[in-house]
Amino acid sequence: MSHKDHEKVLKTVKDEGINFIRLQFTDIFGIPKNVEIPAAKLPEVLNKGIAFDGSSIEGFMRISESDMYLQADPTTFAIYPWTLESGHAKTARIICDVLLPNGKPFEGDPRYVLRRAVAEAAKLGYTMYAGAEAEFFLFRRNGEPSIELHDRGGYFDLNPLDQGEETRAEIVVALEKMGFEVEAAHHEVAHSQHEIDFRYADVLKTADNIVTFRFVVKTIAMLHGLHATFMPKPIAKINGSGMHTHISLFKGGKNLFYDPKDSYNLSETARHFLAGIIEHIGAITALANPLVNSYKRLVPGYEAPVNISWARINRSALIRVPASNTPEVSTRIELRSPDPSCNPYLAYAAILAAGLDGIKRKLKAPDPVEENIYHLTREQRQERGIGSLPGSLDEALNALQSDEVIKSALGQHVLDKYIEAKEEEIQEYRLAVTPWELEHYLDDY
Ligand code: GLU
Ligand code: MG
Repeated sequence: MSHKDHEKVLKTVKDEGINFIRLQFTDIFGIPKNVEIPAAKLPEVLNKGIAFDGSSIEGFMRISESDMYLQADPTTFAIYPWTLESGHAKTARIICDVLLPNGKPFEGDPRYVLRRAVAEAAKLGYTMYAGAEAEFFLFRRNGEPSIELHDRGGYFDLNPLDQGEETRAEIVVALEKMGFEVEAAHHEVAHSQHEIDFRYADVLKTADNIVTFRFVVKTIAMLHGLHATFMPKPIAKINGSGMHTHISLFKGGKNLFYDPKDSYNLSETARHFLAGIIEHIGAITALANPLVNSYKRLVPGYEAPVNISWARINRSALIRVPASNTPEVSTRIELRSPDPSCNPYLAYAAILAAGLDGIKRKLKAPDPVEENIYHLTREQRQERGIGSLPGSLDEALNALQSDEVIKSALGQHVLDKYIEAKEEEIQEYRLAVTPWELEHYLDDY
């Protein structure tokens, strides 16, 4: 980060009359945290960082020390546009890296986990690009969040402006003011469900963008009296929310995934990367589908993947190869399993590590499956070697625990804290007696 970046930020803060800066980072679950400083303190913080107590941040606690530093990444400076309106203190944010007092990166910082994976790729000359399609629901908020629908719209519906459409438009405006290039915004399949797609970028920037995106969506929704949720399956028996992720790998400005001679336009490198994802999908799922609730989305019938396969058109596949009219630049693979509740730094670090492992070991991708897998019988799937994604968080954690590549991508600190927290979550869930159980068992047994 250059002196020039600092100067630019300080000038904008002065010109726009910004009052406060939020120094942002995320905990191990990808939940944004921040320390707020008055603008006058910014020059000092940009130069020296700022100390904070990490002991109460989820996944940060260390036995021996809790003093940590935030080092601002000035390239991530953005003003919260809604605070420029009267009645608010004008506020901007900067995303930070978390350091130890000795100036070394803190290995529990999820952004550092992704930085490490990015550096591994860079050693081979690779840059991974990622584009995310985060879906979400907008529910009514009657003081408290609810799951009350506010519209009856469906996929791509053009409704007279209702509260949800209007809120989505305001979200897009806010994102654009923060520097996002929004490519599309539409109603999704379920009532009250929406999707906003923003332009792909290098994987670290996209992970930063996802955290920002979720925060902006929730904030603008709340300002409109709605509750936005990225929970993967808030309502049973209708579509859940996914975060399909488009992936490509570049070297020296060239898309390494493109090969015009291949029937899918996919290069050998792309096929190895894809095979790496398939090889490590169990462990990836523990990170890309991190909640007990995530596994209620990964069931047949709701456009979410269940089986481990790839294809061009087939939307029941785990990985799709989208068609493109500019294949040289935009040949890519689309991983359809991640959901928007994940910590994108950890999920994307796992995906990148898996892909690199596929390339290094020259793993061979299985044959594509173009028919609807939901229509194949269990035997037919078995004959063709089509496996299934983990059926529960517990199963996914087991896969993670036996996957050395993904474990080493996370590093010991994050791995231990993540598994500890998720095992606790599973245990708590087991203690709950659900309405379904009462409905099915109370009378008959
Ligand atoms: N909502 C679906 C999912 O859970 C995806 C729908 C779509 O194809 O965009 O992944
Ligand atoms: Mg969608």
